[in-house]
Amino acid sequence: MAVAMTEKLETVYQQIKARNPGEDEFHQAVREVLESLGPVLVKHPEFVEQKIIERVSEPERQIIFRVPWQDDKGEIHINRGFRVQFNSALGVYKGGLRFHPSVYLGIIKFLGFEQVFKNALTGMPIGGGKGGSDFDPKGKSDGEVMRFCQSFMTELYRHLGEYTDVPAGDIGVGGRELGYMFGQYKRITNRYESTVLTGKGVAWGGSLVRTEATGYGAVFFVREMLAARKDALEGKTCIVSGSGNVALYTIEKLQQLGAKVIACSDSNGVIVHEKGIDLPLLKQIKEVERRRISEYAARHEDAKYLPGGDVWDIPCQIAMPSATQNELTGKDARTLVKNGCIAVGEGANMPTTPEGVKVFLEAKIAYGPGKAANAGGVATSALEMQQNSSRDSWSFEHTERRLDSIMTNIHASTWETAEEYGAPGNYVLGANIAGFVRVAKAMLALGCI
Ligand code: NDP
Repeated sequence: MAVAMTEKLETVYQQIKARNPGEDEFHQAVREVLESLGPVLVKHPEFVEQKIIERVSEPERQIIFRVPWQDDKGEIHINRGFRVQFNSALGVYKGGLRFHPSVYLGIIKFLGFEQVFKNALTGMPIGGGKGGSDFDPKGKSDGEVMRFCQSFMTELYRHLGEYTDVPAGDIGVGGRELGYMFGQYKRITNRYESTVLTGKGVAWGGSLVRTEATGYGAVFFVREMLAARKDALEGKTCIVSGSGNVALYTIEKLQQLGAKVIACSDSNGVIVHEKGIDLPLLKQIKEVERRRISEYAARHEDAKYLPGGDVWDIPCQIAMPSATQNELTGKDARTLVKNGCIAVGEGANMPTTPEGVKVFLEAKIAYGPGKAANAGGVATSALEMQQNSSRDSWSFEHTERRLDSIMTNIHASTWETAEEYGAPGNYVLGANIAGFVRVAKAMLALGCI
């Protein structure tokens, strides 16, 4: 029976691949989920009869649009904008916007697909979507970024709404970009519709803890994975890839919980600071000055900068990939395991290649996949929506406690699901199955949608 199901899944996967040519990251994300689902289909034959997998892999709607804008010299540029509204069985489409030159439909679809199951895992009423553009904010002036964001929203606004689709930030989209987009949405619609975007500034409808949420949440997840093994974060040596929003607040929470972070990176290189990263300096360079991390080593005599270095070569006990997809390969995973790494918590989306995931699972280290470990960002976005709807604003402590309990629950449900399906400690299986079953049941209940 199980073998037949595996063959059935392989056939469905090949159909999805053929239907979405050239979208490698999307194929990878679909394959990873499908590989976990064999036992679920044995238990729930109605999911097969009702073609839930075929339906859940097809976005409800995909929007692609032109984004023209003028730079400071008056030259016109044309970028491409995307919004993939993947699944609304559990609630409004929810998921971030990414501005990065590598963005194309395959990236947005992989992120949207992952988001559907991640959002289901939070237990909150949110569906999944993702969007963005191949625009590169790096090296652009504030005025250029503003004109781009205004042009992007001039098309996107018609597809959004408190009860329809609520984007947030992602790579290249932080408070500045969200501010420009919210301002344009407000002008066009003449509505102060706070709930239409999350990750807003605290002064204009944002939630405390949203900035910190993805990084903090990923650390809470790692704390729970270690606790399940009767271990703790205190005194552990950690490395974090990236130095953007997720990385900075991962470092902050690791330090608060007594761990030592000795390295982080950007797409040009790695900094190593054996005494422990000086976070106020790193934040000043990245958040205030918007400069490269090489600047950190220039200002700190104990720190080393390794241009083009691989952060995973630095020995550590805990690794937290927090930059981008497929940044941690099979070779990197083997190096980490060899160097004594006992836990990996993914702040980024799909940062580990399938070969790397296999290495972690075979080594039986605590491996928390992004779908579960980085769900704290979107969960806090949902808390922001709750505050906006009730015209309320909660304290930092209250919101952080809510985030902590959501992450603790996600850990418990992925752990229990893995046990139920005979794979104790396998959070990949636990997260894929727990998220999928929730979405599948809602889709069945809603008819042929
Ligand atoms: P930021 O733009 O704030 O930071 C991204 C960081 O990753 C930067 O240090 C950047 O370096 C590095 N990076 C980006 N692309 C590459 C690349 N191709 N190669 C090497 N390094 C790269 O983004 P976020 O911190 O918001 O997002 C990081 C990850 O976390 C992404 O995978 C995102 O999808 C995921 N995520 C984010 C959430 C959020 O709330 N922000 C929620 C859940 C997941 P450089 O400056 O050199 O480009």
